[in-house]
Amino acid sequence: MDNQNTENNAENQSFTIENFVSLSAQLVAAVRARETARNDRLFTDPFAAELAGKQALEMAKEREERTKDSVADRLAIRTRFFDDFLIDAVSEVRQVVILAAGMDARAFRLPWPDGTIIYELDKAEVLAKKEAILKEKQPLCHRKAIAADLTQPWQDKLLEQGYQNNVPSVWLLEGLLMYLTEEEVYNLLRNIWDIVAIGSYLGTDILNVYALQSQDLAAKYWRSGFDYPEEIFASIGWYVKVFEAGQPEANFGRFNTEVPPRDVLDIPRGFLIQARKLANKS
Ligand code: SAM
Repeated sequence: MDNQNTENNAENQSFTIENFVSLSAQLVAAVRARETARNDRLFTDPFAAELAGKQALEMAKEREERTKDSVADRLAIRTRFFDDFLIDAVSEVRQVVILAAGMDARAFRLPWPDGTIIYELDKAEVLAKKEAILKEKQPLCHRKAIAADLTQPWQDKLLEQGYQNNVPSVWLLEGLLMYLTEEEVYNLLRNIWDIVAIGSYLGTDILNVYALQSQDLAAKYWRSGFDYPEEIFASIGWYVKVFEAGQPEANFGRFNTEVPPRDVLDIPRGFLIQARKLANKS
């Protein structure tokens, strides 16, 4: 094909933010499918290729070949980091809430202890696509998919499905917060704080401010970045630990260069965050 002919190159199409945000779920699944095919894979997601679909798989391949950067490695580390985080947490808790679950197939691929229930929230159209693909597959836990816009009240929908706010839980918000404004990020973290029992865990990722200028396909749809995400978590009451891909706790043998010190602000960073509600805020 003529290289100049970009008509079919989905990466050059423009999307509305809503369309892109839905497609982003399939793009991340495509990266998981490509990671699954590697001999040195950090996890196995046998559902990722089907969930991603052809267009996203092509986009992920083109992006990886053309950019030679480490976005795919960072996403693979992020997936594995949160796989481990969730599995550690369910040694104590049995309620798992995945906000903006997209094409996350953890309910179908991780070894959940008996009695685990996973609530997956995302936009109706994203969940409809996912349910159609997974309808014949058996989750390895109880699973409830709940259509919700996370910038609108969603808590009652979760409670109606059986979520118990007086029992500790673990929450995951992966690949979501950059698509929200600063105010929406604060409100979401605050709303989760209000609906979780003491002892609950929360895992999420957040970009720094500089990352918003990145040339990455998704960057023009990102709306917020934080150089010191600790501050927003602490202002609500969360006890928080912040990591970056490449640090010993979040590397899994993938990178062999050191992460620059935190006060270097003019490089793109993706923070991997583990938070916990240890007490009510006085
Ligand atoms: N967590 C999944 C993963 O890591 O594979 C999906 C990440 S994808 C990059 C972003 C997801 O956020 C999409 O599934 C999108 O539908 C969801 N999302 C973004 N804004 C949302 C909102 N306001 N309400 C519900 N879901 C939203």
